[in-house]
Amino acid sequence: SVPISPAPALTPMMAQYFEIKAVNPGYLLFYRMGDFYELFFEDAEIASAALGIVLTKRGKHLGEDIGMCGVPIHAANDYLNKLVKLGHRVAICEQVEDPAEAKKRGSKSVVKRDVVRLITAGTLTEDDHLDARASNFLAALAMVRHGETDFALAWTDVSTGESFTADLAADQVQDELARIDPAELILSEATRLALVERHLFAPAWLPISHIAPAESFDSEVAGIVLRDAFPGGSFDASALSRAARSALGAVVAYISDSQKGVGVALRAPVLGSTARSMAIDQATRASLELHQTQRGQQRGSLRNAIDLTVTAPGSRLLSARLAAPLADASAINERLDAVSALAGDTMLNGRLRSDLKAVPDLARALTRLALDRGGPRDLAAIGKAVGAALALSTHFSRLDDAPAVLARLAATLAAAPAPLASELTLALDDDLPLFSRDGGFVRKGYDQPLDDERALASETRAVVAALQARLIEETDVRSLKIKHNGVLGYFVEVPAAHGTRLLEEPHRQSFIHRQTLANAMRFTTTELADLEGRIARAHEAALEIELRIFASLRYDVLTRTDALRQLADALAELDVTTALAHLAATRNYARPEIDTSLAFDIRAGRHPVVEDMVRAEGQSFVANDADLSGADEIGGGRLWLVTGPNMGGKSTFLRQNALIAILAQMGSFVPATSAHIGVIDRVFSRVGASDDIAHGRSTFMVEMVETSAILNRATRRSLVVLDEIGRGTATFDGLSIAWAAVEALHETTGCRALFATHFHELTSLAKTLSRVSNVTMKVREWEGEVVFLHEVGPGAADRSYGIQVARLAGLPEPVLARARQVLDILEQRSAGTASSGQKASVLDDLPLFAHQPAAKPAGPDPVHAALDAVRPDEMTPKQAIEALYELKKLR
Ligand code: ADP
Repeated sequence: SVPISPAPALTPMMAQYFEIKAVNPGYLLFYRMGDFYELFFEDAEIASAALGIVLTKRGKHLGEDIGMCGVPIHAANDYLNKLVKLGHRVAICEQVEDPAEAKKRGSKSVVKRDVVRLITAGTLTEDDHLDARASNFLAALAMVRHGETDFALAWTDVSTGESFTADLAADQVQDELARIDPAELILSEATRLALVERHLFAPAWLPISHIAPAESFDSEVAGIVLRDAFPGGSFDASALSRAARSALGAVVAYISDSQKGVGVALRAPVLGSTARSMAIDQATRASLELHQTQRGQQRGSLRNAIDLTVTAPGSRLLSARLAAPLADASAINERLDAVSALAGDTMLNGRLRSDLKAVPDLARALTRLALDRGGPRDLAAIGKAVGAALALSTHFSRLDDAPAVLARLAATLAAAPAPLASELTLALDDDLPLFSRDGGFVRKGYDQPLDDERALASETRAVVAALQARLIEETDVRSLKIKHNGVLGYFVEVPAAHGTRLLEEPHRQSFIHRQTLANAMRFTTTELADLEGRIARAHEAALEIELRIFASLRYDVLTRTDALRQLADALAELDVTTALAHLAATRNYARPEIDTSLAFDIRAGRHPVVEDMVRAEGQSFVANDADLSGADEIGGGRLWLVTGPNMGGKSTFLRQNALIAILAQMGSFVPATSAHIGVIDRVFSRVGASDDIAHGRSTFMVEMVETSAILNRATRRSLVVLDEIGRGTATFDGLSIAWAAVEALHETTGCRALFATHFHELTSLAKTLSRVSNVTMKVREWEGEVVFLHEVGPGAADRSYGIQVARLAGLPEPVLARARQVLDILEQRSAGTASSGQKASVLDDLPLFAHQPAAKPAGPDPVHAALDAVRPDEMTPKQAIEALYELKKLR
């Protein structure tokens, strides 16, 4: 039998490690050891795999090797970033006492350590962790079974303090999450299960998420948490639904837990109402490539094409506006008025933009200061932003009769706290260290006692110089120098040759030997040690004063938090407005006419992204009209059936109209010569659907799920843009579904719609449905090839040019010839017939491909023969060129 050995006692360090690990479950523990953070056991395995660093061993635990890996402190940020982006959560455990203290308690005692901060994807505040131009939201999803609402979402950007809540019906959850795109989501297991059971999530759509215990979502506890988080009645949590309170409570508790007691100043939450903005569901967002392309890239997205902002906060706001365009005509027009005024005064707009360029990220600097994680540079950023705001406000006097938005912005900018800016400018030096503890950031002349201490320190330096001169005199060693380093402090250095002299009388008395190097000897003297103490004390005193000044400036800033946040908002809004004005003026965009009608009349519309790409290739983009205007009297908007060959420009045309609607309602000018749009409540776009194989759903299934979402949710005010419904199934199934969908959109929904299809049979619907029109992408045939004109014209395509397109794609000639043959037979024999059974029998009559030599050109092919005759090894370049010309002639 195996002898049972008593469990070996844990080393004190391991005991401490386990204790800390136990109170932070679910976090990788970064355990501070000198200049490293070390990870142990499973943490070490996870981190070494994720970071590609070496997994080693450190001692044994219960007879097993302890796995260990470590990252140096100075590089820790990069590693943290990587881990967090991969969805890991990290607990930073620091030494919280001087190692000397621990020694005093006994030789075996370990330095006290504690977790000072939890780092997760949703709770980041440092610039090196954050994308300057993107928001970083932490979201919590709460579910209440018997409340006013089923679900609620609360989300916060810790780096700026912005917070939001929204009550949601079950079927809105996924779309709202897609809009917000949080970096991290917390939810309870019950909520997760409810979503999965009700098929409300394609699992891949869940952002990095963490399951929190049910207690975290207790709405009663949340009430108390929120009262503490928003003191002084700045926000009344009882105005929220129970679910929203519970979600917000969970977010706030998670954040304050992650910052380990450092108060996070959140802004009073904005209560979201999905009714106020244009609804764009997740599939539409993806299909229209609003923020990123379907491949996940920034380039090629709408945002990338229109973002001309010059500051990071401006870019974040633009992105938010694009994610949630407005659905209220007068609010849209207010924004458009402002853009229009600036687009019309390019001189003013240019000045504003060039001044804005220098404006730092006020909101994030403010948050870091509030969290006591900010340094002198953050203070300076605030001073600079305030100064810039005041300067910017003076430009507006040029505008007489400024539109409401600009008047409001100008007023906010002008009200920026000027005394704060001048105080900060006076106090802070030009070159600033990252941390206040480094000192040396207060400008000379700002504080007398500080200058005195500094003078003392530098005077002492003069005293050191004098001392050096005297020692040279006394010892007669010309090359004697007083130097300083981190190990010895101040010391006297002489070349080795002279060193021995100082070890002898009479110098032995005054020179104390410290170090012998290969070619130098180092000494100290009592006088020098004394001086050193004075210098250090002066430095310390100076640093103390600087830290006091920092604290007082920080206090000055934090007491103005509200005003500064409003200022930050105004600066971001001004950046967005001037950027949109610049876009309008430089890209030839037009102001859309927005009202409450059911109009949708776009003249010479362009696709904002494809236009750029086509231009970059030196071609011109063909602008196209779209008129889907309808009226209630006639039962709703029009529906255009768009036919035309592949590559003809159908999806470009479809998408551009949806994008124009979104741009218009976010308050931007649009790429068209004119656009009249009656406010759209929801946009649906399913263009270029791709297989969702990764998620186990076939194209057809995805398409049907999405089509049903549209048919169930579109209203008379919606814009529906659909490409090739029914493609993923047998022809007649697909045709029937597409047919029924068009009828339903026309008869029941009455929305404005563009419907591209390959089923030419559908075009006959125009005869029976009064608001359906046929349009087609024009093509010209030229010597057997198709030329795409990319022009939308009335009528239906008579053929699909599939074979011509296949040829452009480089399908081998024999296959093309054979396809043409099959097509001819199909067209001849089945003309007018409409049953799949008959088509099948026609196909039965075709000779089998394998036995069909005619599919290959009969007889020797002259091109091949000539090619066979070519011997590249034996040719001169000139002969090769000639052979090429010959070959071309044979074609
Ligand atoms: P379809 O959906 O009919 O297959 P696309 O809309 O994908 O065709 O367009 C194919 C290509 O044609 C685009 O990538 C673009 O290069 C070009 N194109 C489309 N529309 C236009 C246009 N209006 N003007 C110029 N080029 C266009």
